[in-house]
Amino acid sequence: MTATGGTERPPANGDGTRAVRAGLPEPVKNEPTLPGPVFAAHFHLPGDVSGPYTYGRDENPTWTHLERAIGELEAPGPAAVPCLTFASGMAAISAVLFSQLRAGDAVVLPSDGYQVFPLVREQLTAYGIEVRTAPTAGDAQLDVLDGARLLWLETPSNPGLDVCDIRRLADAAHARGALVAVDNTLATPLGQRPLELGADFSVASATKQLTGHGDLLLGYVVCADAGPAAAVRRWRKIVGAIPGPMEAWLAHRSLATLELRVARQNANALAVAQALRGRVTGLRHPGLPDDPSHAVAARQMRRFGCVVSFELPTRARAERFLDALDLVDEATSFGGVRSTAERRGRWGGDAVADGFIRFSAGAEDTEDLVADVLRALAESSG
Ligand SMILES: *Cc1c(COP(=O)(O)O)cnc(C)c1O
Repeated sequence: MTATGGTERPPANGDGTRAVRAGLPEPVKNEPTLPGPVFAAHFHLPGDVSGPYTYGRDENPTWTHLERAIGELEAPGPAAVPCLTFASGMAAISAVLFSQLRAGDAVVLPSDGYQVFPLVREQLTAYGIEVRTAPTAGDAQLDVLDGARLLWLETPSNPGLDVCDIRRLADAAHARGALVAVDNTLATPLGQRPLELGADFSVASATKQLTGHGDLLLGYVVCADAGPAAAVRRWRKIVGAIPGPMEAWLAHRSLATLELRVARQNANALAVAQALRGRVTGLRHPGLPDDPSHAVAARQMRRFGCVVSFELPTRARAERFLDALDLVDEATSFGGVRSTAERRGRWGGDAVADGFIRFSAGAEDTEDLVADVLRALAESSG
């Protein structure tokens, strides 16, 4: 495609189209489609200081392309939204919390959120910030919102896969003068667009399905408004939790297959969930029509994610099941092209039963994956 006069660019309306083209610079003759990683601690800077590229902790052209790409996926449309990438999901989460909150503020976190939250809570409390928690299910965070400065949502929640109503909670928070951040890790921007549902920040670990190969850590923050975005950018400069150019470039390269991976992986998750129906307890996947999360998820999500959770009767049974799987690696994390599963209770911290399994569907052939899961389930029952 060339940007010559009179030739209209085809609109990138479909997710697959948007994913393969996201963040690409204007074509330049004899240059690559996606320029390679720029390794630079400093840039030539004679005379007075002017941007865009001065010092490698502040800006990097490889981040710029990736940040445009993620912004286009999180908030498609003519106006680019501010996006900042970070060294990890936790760096992105911390950047929002610690740039927006001051001593004396109150923040509402999910009680069933990502497992590092108890540590985050300790740190916030040590800085004089009041931390309130309530479960994701049933929009229970509504009940503790009064006087809060920031509402933090994680939907679907990890690992319990409960879902809350982003629009309803965002309206309630804004009516009380609070900002709203949504952890969009599990859904990915193809599954859910929090800014369109009223959130001020969409924050995620790009380590998971967004990049999908289990080979890098990365995080991002997308902001609805320039003011909060400037504070997040300032925090990144202070803390220096910046992505390496190689990781940023690998992430951008991985975005080209996002729609393909999500389509296969999420279909596999639903197939595994359907195959497990009646064979396990506590089966959860927001895409199952009878899941407690399904009604709200179907209203605000466009895809339901690649994670399935369920319980086996005992820890020993769960360990035998994981051991018997051939196509599923026993590993933490989720969202990769190779299926993984783990007994979540082995970490401590999450309020889950001993036999609770978090299963992340990869991009294997559906029949192969379902057959492996059912075989391992049968073999482990003895
Ligand atoms: C993994 C994860 C994080 C943390 O991301 P890192 O890239 O590991 O720092 C935050 N939130 C959720 C929901 C996650 O799954």
